[in-house]
Amino acid sequence: MKSPKPPVPRPPWFVLIFISMFGFVGLTLLIFLWSQSPHEFGAPPLIAKMFGSFIAIAFMAMGFGMPISALLRWSMGETGGRENPDPNIAEGVRRDPTGYRCPHCGAGLGTSQEVSPSGDVKCNYCQKWWNIHQSAG
Ligand SMILES: [Zn+2]
Repeated sequence: MKSPKPPVPRPPWFVLIFISMFGFVGLTLLIFLWSQSPHEFGAPPLIAKMFGSFIAIAFMAMGFGMPISALLRWSMGETGGRENPDPNIAEGVRRDPTGYRCPHCGAGLGTSQEVSPSGDVKCNYCQKWWNIHQSAG
């Protein structure tokens, strides 16, 4: 059983792009270091290549690893349906025990969630009230 966790907000694209620029810088550095002919005048010596590659790989690990892991965390926290705020019950049933989703944050309605006879429910995650009948469309 996995414990319910609050949805992870999608990291802003400009932050991801900014971080991934470090990765591209590292990639460019790596290509630059190893694309030069060792016989050419002014080519970096092997030790400089090794050292530069190490830094480049560290940049790439940070520049690509952080945005990817952030996106993975986000996509796992939010199990789809963000493009469609109106949840489809037939599809929702396969993912959620109840098939209902909060229209505000997309969190699934837990089995332990208390629903009033009129269908009003308070979201566990964003603490907003919504109605399962309205949400079903
Ligand atoms: Zn919610």
